[in-house]
Amino acid sequence: MTRRILIAGNWKINTRSAAAASLAKGVVEAVGKSPAVEIALCPPSVYLSTVSEVTAGTPVELGAQNLYAAEDGAFTGEVNAAMLTDVGCQFVILGHSERRQLMGETDACVSKKLHAALAGNLTPIVCVGETLEQREADETESVIETQIRGSLEGLDEARAAGIVIAYEPVWAIGTGKVASKEQAEAVHAFIRDLLGKMFTPGVAEQIRIQYGGSVKPGNAAELLSQPNIDGALVGGASLKAEDFAGIINAAPAS
Ligand code: PEP
Repeated sequence: MTRRILIAGNWKINTRSAAAASLAKGVVEAVGKSPAVEIALCPPSVYLSTVSEVTAGTPVELGAQNLYAAEDGAFTGEVNAAMLTDVGCQFVILGHSERRQLMGETDACVSKKLHAALAGNLTPIVCVGETLEQREADETESVIETQIRGSLEGLDEARAAGIVIAYEPVWAIGTGKVASKEQAEAVHAFIRDLLGKMFTPGVAEQIRIQYGGSVKPGNAAELLSQPNIDGALVGGASLKAEDFAGIINAAPAS
C-alpha cells in the first residue's frame, strides 16, 4: 500500500501579513506545478486568507493550527471548522504539544475537535508525543497509546483511514534534538500496530503518520525513507521557503 508523503509547515505565531504572503509565494515557486509529495502550509488563522490567495490554484494546500468544536454561536475568540473550510483549509492540526501543555488541551478535547474537523470536511492532523521524562522512564509507548486511544475516541473505521497522525516527541520540538531514524521508526511502527488493533490492519495501512521535531533539510531524507514515516510536520524550518523546499525535495517519491 502506498501512502502519499505529506509535508506540512506549522508556522505557529510567526509572520505578519506581508511576510506570510511572501513565504507562501516562495514555497509555491520552489515546489513547482507537480511536486512528488503533498504539501500544506499552516499559517496563523488571521493569515489563512492571505496565504490562500497565494496558494489557490497551486498544489500547495492550506491547514489551520487549531479549531473550536462548535457550530456558530457565542464562543468569543474562537474559529470553527466551517470558517476554516470557508477560507480554503483542507487540514487542521489538533492536539499539538504546545496546546496540550500551554492551553491544557486533553485527549477528550482533541477527540471533540477531531469529530468537528471531520464533520466539516477537514483532514485532522492529530499530534501525539512523549516528554523527555516519559521517554527516560520507558513510558513512551503507554503515553502514545493513551493519547491515541483518547484523541481518536468514537472514530469509526470508515473515517479513520483519512486522518493523519503526527508523532512529535516533545523533547524534539524546537530544540534541535531530532529523534534518530531508528527511534522515530520504532514509535511509528508501534502506532501503526496500535491503529491496526483499534480499527483493522487494512485501515492502519492507509493512515499517514508524520514525524515532527526539528526536521531540517539535512535530516529529512533519512527520516522520510523509513517504512512507517509518511511525512513531516515542520515548525522552525517551515519559516524559510528554501529550508521547507529542501525538506520537500528530500522526500522519496511516493
Ligand atoms: C512543531 O511545532 O510541530 C515542530 C515539529 O517544530 P520544530 O520543527 O521547530 O521542531
